[in-house]
Amino acid sequence: MAAEWRIGIGYDIHAVIPNRVLMLGGIEVPADFGLSGHTDGDVVLHAVIDAMLGAAGLPDIGEHFPDGDPAHKGRRSSELLEEALREVNGLGWWINNLDLTIRAEKPKLAEHKNRLRQSLAGLLSLDPERIGVKAKTNEGFDAVGEGRAIACEAALILKRGVE
Ligand code: MG
Repeated sequence: MAAEWRIGIGYDIHAVIPNRVLMLGGIEVPADFGLSGHTDGDVVLHAVIDAMLGAAGLPDIGEHFPDGDPAHKGRRSSELLEEALREVNGLGWWINNLDLTIRAEKPKLAEHKNRLRQSLAGLLSLDPERIGVKAKTNEGFDAVGEGRAIACEAALILKRGVE
């Protein structure tokens, strides 16, 4: 089969809430708040899952793991990522590279970027060199800028076949 390449994008935003562990990219990030959500609220992994499913032409994360389904309540997002990856791999696709932008006013993510990248590399069985992690504030604008939410955009390339 000739090589085939597909691009995918994903986006997610979750509200900041107290009394919850902040999970980003499969790691705990020290903060005095976490993110809302039916699962652990890992906005980074949700964006990655949607980018992957979208590139493969599959239904989105909401269809795969419906909010209203008690079976998914409290699940770790890393489990959802593993399931989505297995499905995508089953169609012959593998990830060529991943690029992320996380938008958070706080906590400062600069010191956690490398750990986050290593976590994603492990979860996706991908060389860290193929993963880009950018962290930005939102310069005070909108809910993210006011520290009421954290958002993430992900883009990735899927490949299958050989050249
Ligand atoms: Mg989400």
